[in-house]
Amino acid sequence: MLVYRLSGTLDNEELTAALWEAGAGGLEERQGSLRAYFDERSPLHEYPELAGGEWLVEPDRDWQADWKLGLKPVQAGRITVVPSWLADEVPATQTRLIIEPGMAFGTGHHATTRMAIEALSALELQGERVLDVGTGSGVLAMAASLLGAERALGLDIDPLTIPVAFENAELNGFTRTAGGLTRPGGGLLDFAEGTLDGESYDDSERYGVLVANLYAELHDLLAADYREAMQSGAPLILTGILENKLPLVREALEREGFTDVQERLDGEWALVTARN
Ligand code: SAM
Repeated sequence: MLVYRLSGTLDNEELTAALWEAGAGGLEERQGSLRAYFDERSPLHEYPELAGGEWLVEPDRDWQADWKLGLKPVQAGRITVVPSWLADEVPATQTRLIIEPGMAFGTGHHATTRMAIEALSALELQGERVLDVGTGSGVLAMAASLLGAERALGLDIDPLTIPVAFENAELNGFTRTAGGLTRPGGGLLDFAEGTLDGESYDDSERYGVLVANLYAELHDLLAADYREAMQSGAPLILTGILENKLPLVREALEREGFTDVQERLDGEWALVTARN
């Protein structure tokens, strides 16, 4: 097994994007180091951001099986997120959300996903239209739908995430229809490739809740678009924000006229809520 080890964490999108592009088959974080698994030595000199690491040859290991073994159900608000093989372990008092861990971010194990589900759980979503920007595995749009949203739409600029989100929805009993997916018992869910540019979705529609797990700089850029996409007075839930980047998000929301800005932390990660 061929491993390229360098200092860094899975949160560093610049490093992880370069490693995937260079042909890594899997990434892992251990004690402040990023470990990227390769089938063959990739010419990493094309990626200056990956300089300073070292190649290691290690005994073969079924790392995917190891990683899966470590996954436990995650309780967040009224939802428990579980991988499919642990679906029976969810207490009856909780709503079960099955995610097949795979290509897209959003197994529920990251603090940001957990905090976003908790914030959604604290809202009354019956009859609401919810927009999830940066849906990844579809976890937040699905959580909103399972919590009663009349319609939920998940957008993502990464085309690979959309089929993954559809598959996860089907694992949760949603059925595909011409217009997206239907939740057992009612409620519509859909996923589309794109962002808040008015091309990927019907931007004449105003949403009753907007949730986005992205990163602080992007929240700053998108803050005006969030307002445009939301009904007046609607709650906004933003996460993916490192604590030291909170001022950037706070200033963006104040600049755009959001009110009732509140923050909470889980380790180094922050969640910000506000009203349009
Ligand atoms: N919503 C999931 C969760 O909470 O676990 C996944 C969040 S993941 C941190 C961020 C996702 O946002 C990625 O799937 C990425 O492709 C997507 N993304 C990044 N920039 C975006 C943008 N400008 N518009 C829409 N999606 C974007």
